[in-house]
Amino acid sequence: MTTKQYTYKFRIYPNKEQISFLDEQIGYNRFVYNFFLERAVNLHKNYNIKTNYYTNAVILPLLKKGFSFLKDANSQSLQASLKNLDTAFRNFFQHRAKFPNFKKKVNTNSIEIPQHFTIDGNSLYIPKLKSAIKVKLHRRFYEFAKSLKITKKPSGKYYINILVEKYDYCAYIPNKAVNGVSGIDLGIKDFAVITTGANISNKQSNKVANPKYLIKAQNKLKTLNRQFTKKIKGSKNKVKFRKRLSIFHERVANQRKDFLHKLSSRMVNDSQVIVLEDLNIKGMAKNRRLSKSISDVSWSIFTGQLKYKADWYGRDIFTVNRFYPSSKACSTLGCGYNKQDLKLSDREWTCPDCGAKHDRDINASDNLFLEGLNLTIRPERSELTPAEYAPAGIQNTGYSRHTMKQEAHAS
Ligand SMILES: [Zn+2]
Repeated sequence: MTTKQYTYKFRIYPNKEQISFLDEQIGYNRFVYNFFLERAVNLHKNYNIKTNYYTNAVILPLLKKGFSFLKDANSQSLQASLKNLDTAFRNFFQHRAKFPNFKKKVNTNSIEIPQHFTIDGNSLYIPKLKSAIKVKLHRRFYEFAKSLKITKKPSGKYYINILVEKYDYCAYIPNKAVNGVSGIDLGIKDFAVITTGANISNKQSNKVANPKYLIKAQNKLKTLNRQFTKKIKGSKNKVKFRKRLSIFHERVANQRKDFLHKLSSRMVNDSQVIVLEDLNIKGMAKNRRLSKSISDVSWSIFTGQLKYKADWYGRDIFTVNRFYPSSKACSTLGCGYNKQDLKLSDREWTCPDCGAKHDRDINASDNLFLEGLNLTIRPERSELTPAEYAPAGIQNTGYSRHTMKQEAHAS
């Protein structure tokens, strides 16, 4: 049986003493990371020598002798920092990431604790710290914890990420099936329009607005950002403001994630088949003002959540490709007129063929819903793989109960 790796994230509430302990440990790791980064840069520049984890790990004990404060550091965490540096370099050389940055105190900082930690109820025990740190477990988990990461945000809040391994049950045992189908059209003015139902006569199309609190928070964030840039560089005021800004930033990000999680969970609960557009099509239609709202409404976070949850619950997700005219085709059954000259600014239109009046976005999500319905009523479906039963212009994203995967997911 295959396994998958997951991370659980929880907030921890260290007391004053524990905060100074954590900050020290984080500082040691930052020091070691930056030291070896600088060394790698120098060796490469002056002698054309490449370093790696193993050559660095040999030097680490010598470094501890030279810098005696490192004797208080958790050795395994320092080794993990070296591994992270190694990964950062490898990602750079394989063109997956930029050149590694020096770690700064004002940014998010973390330490890894690969072993010897315990979570007992609401108490977290870590090496070299005698007292237990208070942790709020907002969900229970039963898996074996493989490693732990403690993160300090610029806001001064602390979190833990627990890496666990789960058996990949969903690749083998389909979850309870539902017969709903959803088409979703991601929007600019509204977050999305969703059409859901089990057949044509009971379909419902709903506009899901961006929540008011989120719009308000995002506007406030813009104002705060403007105020921040006006503060004098290096002033006490600016430092204080930076903290306030990052607290607010984090809150907005959490609110947004929460909204997206609720919506994606609801969709996966209700539907066996979900049909989406390819986000690149949307990207092609963007101008500057649109692209701003695109990033605001976080489509990619949302589709990522959908795919991840659909995979877990054994639902099928399909993406229509760029040639599929979801906005331009008339969704009236039996019509299908293709309105070639439909502009992005046309919010409503009347079909010249059948006379139906369409709301642009609802028409698009209705079309995606109808495609989903087509996929479910094909009688031979059970004998085919999703790739085979999908009609031209539609592709399975690969996230379905028919596929077995071994890749790791982060929640
Ligand atoms: Zn029509």
